Amino acid sequence: MARVFNFSAGPATLPQSVLERARDEMLEWNGVGASIVELSHRGPEFMEVAARAEADLRALLSIPDDYAVLFLAGGATTAQALIALNFAQPGQPADYVVSGHWGKTAIKQVAPYVDARIAATSEDNGFHDVPPPSTWTLTPDAAYVHYTANETIHGVEYREVPRVDGGTLIGDFSSSIASEPLDISRFGLIYAGAQKNLGPVGVTVLIIRRDLLEREGQPRAEILDYRAHVRGESMLNTPPTWNWYLAGLVFRWMLDEGGVEEFARRNGRKAALLYDAIDGSSGFYRNDVAAAARSRMNVPFFLHDEALNAEFLAESKAAGLLALKGHRVLGGMRASIYNAMPEAGVQALVDFMRDFARRRG
Ligand SMILES: *Cc1c(COP(=O)(O)O)cnc(C)c1O
Repeated sequence: MARVFNFSAGPATLPQSVLERARDEMLEWNGVGASIVELSHRGPEFMEVAARAEADLRALLSIPDDYAVLFLAGGATTAQALIALNFAQPGQPADYVVSGHWGKTAIKQVAPYVDARIAATSEDNGFHDVPPPSTWTLTPDAAYVHYTANETIHGVEYREVPRVDGGTLIGDFSSSIASEPLDISRFGLIYAGAQKNLGPVGVTVLIIRRDLLEREGQPRAEILDYRAHVRGESMLNTPPTWNWYLAGLVFRWMLDEGGVEEFARRNGRKAALLYDAIDGSSGFYRNDVAAAARSRMNVPFFLHDEALNAEFLAESKAAGLLALKGHRVLGGMRASIYNAMPEAGVQALVDFMRDFARRRG
């Protein structure tokens, strides 16, 4: 069976060359006679893999030196919970901007620890737009302002880094990190589960401005303490070594392909191709998101007649286009077109969509 174009939202498609290299190194890594996943995380072999991955990520994202980088287990959702424990004082409020499903999850995860205030939400209009930063109601003594750069389910994205006037900005970049250049220095903290744009599920990347680590935060176990994780170089306990190694191969691949500037160009072309196909379908397909907030990574769309959904999914799958079913929260379809989705994949999708509309229109 040949590989197909996989539009899964996460875990998501990985570059074929990365998978081939991991296959070639699976049984025996770099002449040591064992797989990298069988070696101690504290041995020289894995330490080298870990250091190279961090150095490559720093180069890829132009991470300034006053930021620490962590590679941890637990996923983005665990990071959402730990942010409040680490960076909000007991009783101190924190501001949350809600532009979709994951913004709501973030509040749910911190509710036991912090007075989470909704600084802005676009829920009233069904998350078809993002609340503009000029409308955010910020709390003067808030520990931080949390927002979701790209909402993976609702398909809305902030295209510019919001200004928070001296506040500490925290961004959930799980589904858009490394998709375009980003000025990290505008943030207190950025986090991303790897399984959308960085590699395999099982490792989460955090980029933390070091002065935040001086905050006392709330009483917590050492294993929940980011200061301790930074001191321990993400090896307070056994880290997810295989996932870290694979993510490192993806970072290397992104650098070799031309870095985030090149991916920004490709992602812009891919998104334009797909949105043009939707908008130019005379209503056969529909995307409800305000044009300026449309995500370049996750494109939800609906067929004019929902009764055609099952046929669309069956025929697209037969045509080698995998995982187009929308998230159960929204229904319809969703195409996730992360860095590892080639332009040929999006071209194949729009060709199929036009053909399907011609036959069923
Ligand atoms: C997938 C996702 C999450 C949750 O990630 P887990 O690793 O499953 O915890 C959080 N935020 C965003 C924006 C996501 O896309």
